This record gives sequence, structure tokens and C-alpha cells, in this order.
Amino acid sequence: MRQPLPISEAGGAPAPATTVGDGPLCAAVHAFLDGVWLLRALRDDEGALVDFLILDLNARAAQMAGVARHAVLGERLGRAVPMARRLGHVEVYARVVATGVPETMEFRYEPPDGPPVWREVQVVPVGDGVVLTFRDITRRVVLEEARAASDRDFRLLAENATDMISRVTPGGIVSYVSPACREVLGFEPHELVGRPAAMCVHPDDVAAVEGLARALVEVDVVRSPAFRARRKDGAWVWLESASRAVRDGRGRLVEVQVSHRDVGERAIAHAEHAALNRVFEAVAAGASAPELHDLVAFEVARLLGAEGGRVVRDADGAPELLGAWRRDGAEGAPAGAATLEAPVRLDGAPWGAVAADFATPRDVPSGARGAVERFAKLVGLAVANAEARERLTAQATTDGLTGLANHATFHTALIDAVALAERYGRPLSVAIVDLDRFKTVNDTLGHQAGDAALRTVASILRGHARRSDVVARIGGEELAWLMPETPVAEAVTAVERLRAAIAAAPVAAPLGLTASVGLTGLREDDPGPEALLARADGALYRAKNLGRNRVHQS
Ligand code: GH3
Ligand code: MG
Ligand code: MG
Repeated sequence: MRQPLPISEAGGAPAPATTVGDGPLCAAVHAFLDGVWLLRALRDDEGALVDFLILDLNARAAQMAGVARHAVLGERLGRAVPMARRLGHVEVYARVVATGVPETMEFRYEPPDGPPVWREVQVVPVGDGVVLTFRDITRRVVLEEARAASDRDFRLLAENATDMISRVTPGGIVSYVSPACREVLGFEPHELVGRPAAMCVHPDDVAAVEGLARALVEVDVVRSPAFRARRKDGAWVWLESASRAVRDGRGRLVEVQVSHRDVGERAIAHAEHAALNRVFEAVAAGASAPELHDLVAFEVARLLGAEGGRVVRDADGAPELLGAWRRDGAEGAPAGAATLEAPVRLDGAPWGAVAADFATPRDVPSGARGAVERFAKLVGLAVANAEARERLTAQATTDGLTGLANHATFHTALIDAVALAERYGRPLSVAIVDLDRFKTVNDTLGHQAGDAALRTVASILRGHARRSDVVARIGGEELAWLMPETPVAEAVTAVERLRAAIAAAPVAAPLGLTASVGLTGLREDDPGPEALLARADGALYRAKNLGRNRVHQS
């Protein structure tokens, strides 16, 4: 039977009521996950503490110490567990007994058959002895060491990097920023720590940058495309970032480490290339001139982070605004605004200008002038291209002499008009106008006078047609007039008016000139446009036979 040991409150006086050994505490000792030892001081005759007697220990304690419980129970600690003396623990326990003050210490222990382990021991005085509680803290220490090492490495790298390195909380607040922030953003580190990481990011880029940050919840490393950040002196710089997620043992994001690189001119060149490309693509896709002007205004402003962009054309007096884009909510140019403008030339001649408007001169990024000039050059090309295309299109669809639609255009229009009229049961009339004895005009007055007469008749015809009508020159001196939404009864009046106008006009003087007209309307049983046209032709033939200078309806 071992000696029961009175137990005390930590560091306090002995509490004789509670005893260990056979008591309830002894039972509890065995239930602990930590290793627990109960030791009583062994003293020599003069009362000096020479060693401890092992009163009890639980299975975990035996396992931690690498001893068999039954072999050490009732033994002297210094003899049964030599490690306790070797590590200097016996002295510590003796001090706790002497002072009555509990102590905690951590120690490293290398078992003969395994990797080093870390233990924490709490030494609590109990009567003339101690209760020891051993806890394995290897995992915690290893993690702490790894963390400290990575912290050291991180700092070493961060402090010496030319890239700006920062640590950001999951809430987006900067907790550390490396000294390179002085070069990259012109701020001192302490001016950025504690502030939102997106503080310096250009408003246009904030959404993109924050979107990337959100991606870190799922992936470990995210690289950003180039974005703009405002330096302390107000200038904009182009940065690229790589962000790395740091997670805890449960995979939760605890920190984001970000390295920023100033990609300066390269980024502008990149963005400019992309912007110019979009304009080129629009040109190639056949965008209209107004669409191109607006696109250029938008792209030049976006590229340079300007408040607005414009494309203007030189005009007598005030320049004409052809395309414009302004940042949302931006008002007219504020006081102190700055404008960067480059002239647009078309085939070497001044044509207009491309302009970017900035809130203040310091908002103008370096290299902006070159970019505006390149846009101006592109606008010149795009406008020339669009105008050439418009010319070509016009040439392909109109008649060069009279400016009326040509034969091909008339045919397409006729097919469309017939299809529409048939589908919706709407009236449609068509007239063919042929000049009378035109050969005589040419023979008498010459071919040029004949041409002039043709042009005059064409313009008379145009003057009589409605906007929705199609007037065309479908042969040498043969014109056609397509009248959608017009019943023949109505058309006959219009055509008669035209005939009278031609006859009355001072054309081909002194001969004068008349025209014969064949008119018809679409019928339900018409098999198609050709039938309609053939009937109009037949009517024209009748008009000629009946004496010319008349309208015949069929
Ligand atoms: P009608 O129709 O009354 O029977 O007599 P016409 O003399 O007008 O008839 P025809 O079809 O025989 O002659 C058409 C003439 O129109 C032949 C040509 O000299 C003339 N003509 C056709 N195209 C042009 C043109 O572009 N310019 C000029 N000046 N004359 C043209
Ligand atoms: Mg004729
Ligand atoms: Mg003819």
C-alpha cells in the first residue's frame, strides 16, 4: 500500500481532505489523455530533497516516457526514469516543491526509435510532492516552426523583391506590404497597411480585380491581367499581380499573399493592341462610319483611363462631333481639365481629330500621346475605308448617268415588293416609262444633249415618286417606277401627272420630249414578278402603238 499524498490547490496550502493513491483523483488520472505523474519528495535525514518517489502514473504517462508502469511504481524517479534527471527535470520539480509555485515548461526529447517530439509539462505542487501533466505538443511546435520559417522566408523574399509583395486578410485589408511599394506606388508601407487592398485600383478595374480575389476561395493561385493603380502622386501605373491563398488546416482562407509587378509600357502596348484590333475588326465587319466613330471614342478613352473620348471632323467654323463616349456620370469638362488631341488625315489632307479628355493634367498617362496618334491614324484609315465602301456600294446599286437605281437593284426591289404585297394582300403598281423617238433627239442634238435630257427626265421622275417608291433606269431610255401600297387607280393619276410634266418640261429644246408609259397592278393570280413586268411592258407597247405620249393601263 502506497502512501496517500495530500493534494493542494495549485501553489496553495495543502488540502488534507483530498487524497490521491486510492482516491477518486487516482481514478481520474487514468482517464486523462495527458500523461499524469504523482510524485512525492524523498528527503535525506537533514530534510534535503534528494529525489522523488513515483506514487502513480497513468498509461499515457508510461507510454510517453517509454517505461512499463508496474516497473516504475514505487520506485525512485531518478533511478526509474533517468531521462528526468538528464533533462534537469528533477531540479525543476524540487524548485516547485520548495517555492509552492506551479511551473510549465516545454522540452524536446529524442526517443531512441523515432523522430524528436515536443512535450509540455505542468508541474503543480501537491503537499510534499508534485503532480505532473505531460502533453504532446509536437504537432503544434512543428506547425509553429514551419510557420515561423515560412514567415522568415517570406519576409526575406518580400523585403528584397523588386515586386511589391503584400499580405491581405480574407476581408481585403492589407496587413503587410513590402518596401517596394515605395517604387511601385510611391507610398510608405505604413500608409498602405490597414487599408483596403483595392484602394489604389482604377475604378474601371476594381470589379475585375475583386473577381479574381473571389476565385481564391476555390483555387490557390490567381494571376491577374494588367490593371491600373493610382500612385501617391496621382499618376496611373499598370500592374500585374499573382495572388496566393494561404489556408489553415481545415482549408479555410486565412490570408492572401500578393505580388505586384509594374508592367508599365508593356501593358499600355498590350491594351492598345487589343483596342486597335477591336476597331480593325469592326472595320472589317463592315461597321458604319458613325459606329466606328463611337467605337474609337470609347476605346481611346478606356485605354487611357480618360473621362471621355471624341472623334471630331473639321468643318467651317465649329468642328462637327462625329463620335463621343463619356464615363458614366461624367459632366462637361471640369475646370483644369486636360485634352490630348491628334489630327486625323484622309489621303494626306486634314480631316478631323481624335481627342481624349482627362479630369486633370496629371491623369494623362505617360505614352498617351503616342496612343492617341495611333488611334487618329487608324480613324483615317477606317474612315477612308468606310467612304470607299459606301462609294463602291453606291456604284454597284445605282445608275451612273441618272443616279436612279440600276436594273439589278430594281429587280431585287421588285421581287421584295411583290413578296410583301402578296403576303399581306396589299396593292402594288409598276410603270415603265419609255422616251418617245429618243433616237431622233440623239441624231438631231447629239448624244450629250441626249444624256442631259435623260438626266432631266430622271429628276422629274424622282420628283414625282414617294419615298417608299423605287425609281430606276432599267434600259437605255427606259425608266421604271415601282409603287408599293398603291392601287392602279391611284397610280394612273400619278403616272399621268408625270407624263404631263415631262411633256411640258423644256427638255431637248427645241425638239421637246415626251414619254409613253405602260402601267399595271399586281393581281392575285400573278405567278410572280416577271408576269407583272411583262404586263407593264405590253401596256407600254400599246401606248406606243396608240400614238405615244400617253399612259396605257393593263
Ligand atoms: P420609240 O421608243 O418612241 O419607239 O423611239 P426610240 O427612238 O426612243 O426607240 P429606240 O428603242 O429605237 O431607240 C432608243 C434610243 O435611245 C437609241 C439610243 O440612241 C438612245 N439611247 C439609249 N441609251 C442612251 C443613252 O444613255 N444616252 C443617249 N444619249 N441616248 C441613249
Ligand atoms: Mg424610246
Ligand atoms: Mg426604248
